[in-house]
Amino acid sequence: MLTAALVAAVAVLIGVTLPPRRVPLAPQADGTIPGAIHVHTNRSDGLSGPDEIAAAAARAGLKFVVFTDHGDATRRPDPPAYRSGVLALDGVEISTNGGHYIALDMPPSPYPLAGEARDVVEDVRRLGGFGIAAHPDSPKAQLRWGAWTAPFDGVEFLSLDTGWRLWAEQAAGSAGKWRARRHLTAALFDYPFRPAETIAGLLRSGDGLREQWAAVAARRRVVAVAGVDAHARLDLGGDPDDSRYALPFPSYESSFRVLSIRVRPDSPLSGDAAGDAAIVMRAIRAGHLYMAADAVATPPSFEFTATNDLGTVYEGDQLGIGGPVTLRVRSNAPQGFTTIVWSGASVLGAEHHEQDFSVQAPAEPAVYSVEIRAPARRGASSSEPPLPWIRSNAIYIRDPGGEPPPAARAPATASEPIFDGRTTAGWRAEHDPTSLAALEVAPTIGGAELRFRYGLAGGAAPGRVVTLAFDTPRGTESYDRLGLTLRAEHPMRISLQLRMGDDQGAASGERWQRTLYVDTSHQERTIYFDDLTPVGATHTPLPVFAAVRSVLLVVDATNSKPGDSGRIWIRRAEFQR
Ligand SMILES: [Zn+2]
Ligand SMILES: [Zn+2]
Repeated sequence: MLTAALVAAVAVLIGVTLPPRRVPLAPQADGTIPGAIHVHTNRSDGLSGPDEIAAAAARAGLKFVVFTDHGDATRRPDPPAYRSGVLALDGVEISTNGGHYIALDMPPSPYPLAGEARDVVEDVRRLGGFGIAAHPDSPKAQLRWGAWTAPFDGVEFLSLDTGWRLWAEQAAGSAGKWRARRHLTAALFDYPFRPAETIAGLLRSGDGLREQWAAVAARRRVVAVAGVDAHARLDLGGDPDDSRYALPFPSYESSFRVLSIRVRPDSPLSGDAAGDAAIVMRAIRAGHLYMAADAVATPPSFEFTATNDLGTVYEGDQLGIGGPVTLRVRSNAPQGFTTIVWSGASVLGAEHHEQDFSVQAPAEPAVYSVEIRAPARRGASSSEPPLPWIRSNAIYIRDPGGEPPPAARAPATASEPIFDGRTTAGWRAEHDPTSLAALEVAPTIGGAELRFRYGLAGGAAPGRVVTLAFDTPRGTESYDRLGLTLRAEHPMRISLQLRMGDDQGAASGERWQRTLYVDTSHQERTIYFDDLTPVGATHTPLPVFAAVRSVLLVVDATNSKPGDSGRIWIRRAEFQR
């Protein structure tokens, strides 16, 4: 009797809060294939293995899935493979000091990728990979993307794992913690009945993300994706690396039923995993894809084109300046849904409710994209935009020509060599007690080079570091950069640092750095002192240059593995201005 009453009470609760069922749509092929990007397996903090996850993706109707386990990119990615009929690709999610960066479609890195986000972006690009700034709008500061001026290739416009955290934060902010908790408890009741719809109801995207994206897209192409960030694990401890307080929720399958990306391949998939992986990656790299919230309505059908005197292009493409532009949107949006055409971060013209319409736009350069929204839920506050059903990639109207190069610095007009070309005068090797380092002059045809040999200690002990140091009694005040010509035995990333003395009011020992990639053939590098960033906490954003006492070339655990050894040759080193 009591049980029956309880069931009735729960039923009433569910009846009141159950989210609207997804709108079933008649399948209408639009030439795209559905898949999911940003998925964690049990190789990092996910719950299941690749086969089990691919089977879940198959049940959700997906055709491909991209694994992105946490790592430093030194692991060789698994080759593309069909699992349960789903094409499984393997990438990596790299933790940088400026947020997480997803790297796809590249060979293993010769050294660990870590440190500043701009450097990881540079490394992924040099390795030929495609990099995506993950959950840029995360409410957690250490997960939020900070390198908006770095040349990243793509950005997660919507992320499932971050979306519900944003919801929780916004709900707690606007309605108070208690109402937020009540919503979440209701969601736990709803979940078994309508899992994907329940999760979709808890998703938000961060304020200002469209503006940040539009500012980048105005300068260069940047691909927008939706990431599921699926773990099949809801961590309650608040620490993503701590699985002690985790629930197996939401399942991979329900995550895959919430969000997908729909890529437009340039040729049909053949069933050959390697060839099909290349086709899918080409479409992702080109931005030939849109994001769909399948929990709102599915299967979607969507097409966005722009036409002017020069021709017609699809989303992701660039179209040169050639007279007035006709933007055409076709979809199977259900009755009551609203289509918005964006020009950058502003809405272009009126809202649309037709499934097929065109908008006239001027000839001028612009970045257009499309969003389709479901009607707001009954009872939802007006300030709460519903999860968009579809978000397109951009069409860029502008003349060809790549990204404008960064403003060139004036060439140096004065320099002072700090390697005399004959001796190690002023230079010395430093190392931690367990590592080794030595310095000598190595003769070459027509001169000599500084040769630095090192061996970092193996094992897991922290603090492994070897350093090539140059002491500069007069500071670096008269100069604004350092010019180097150097090579290494194997590709590596080292840190150039300025270390303070204890005079001139400086805080002794404080350091600033800029890391640089060193190749196996001699290359010229210039490090600008105004481009340095603090190592740890410092009293000032930049060094007191008059008090700089040492220039350091540092090899440490950030970008070198324990037990790594090698040689670095320096042919030229000079202060410049
Ligand atoms: Zn992440
Ligand atoms: Zn992730």
